[in-house]
Amino acid sequence: MHELALGQAIVESIGRRADGREARQVTVRIGHLRQVVPDSLQFAWEMLTDGTELAGCLLEIDHVPAAVRCRSCGARTTLDLPILQCASCEGFDVELVSGEEFLIASIDLAEPLRETSDRPPPGSTLGRPTLPRPTLPGPAQPRPTLPRPNLEVS
Ligand SMILES: [Zn+2]
Repeated sequence: MHELALGQAIVESIGRRADGREARQVTVRIGHLRQVVPDSLQFAWEMLTDGTELAGCLLEIDHVPAAVRCRSCGARTTLDLPILQCASCEGFDVELVSGEEFLIASIDLAEPLRETSDRPPPGSTLGRPTLPRPTLPGPAQPRPTLPRPNLEVS
């Protein structure tokens, strides 16, 4: 069972990053071509974490569709079948844009234990540290400043 191995890899990865803190939720990004059955992965996750310190840690699966870009005509195709073919010109000279992902997008960790009164109430989203998400490189554009309306009371 392929999902069991993936679940085990997630457990190990959290163990390395959590550093003794309680993990509340983990989000994994899985490409379509990985052919992971989300229900099976959830089942494997519960089996692997049951009775461990990760029991109760939610697994969220972010499914990424498989897509290719055609080198001939430039069209982008979202694949239904794992066949790397352009839907526009039916050519096979395509490059994979997405679909092979298998990564942990974020781990929601509890604060290190201090005073219990310090901890945010259950359900609160405040004060939850998450790992920084990768930011896309983009041109830093200064925000245009709007001219202030000159409102003078006459
Ligand atoms: Zn094409």
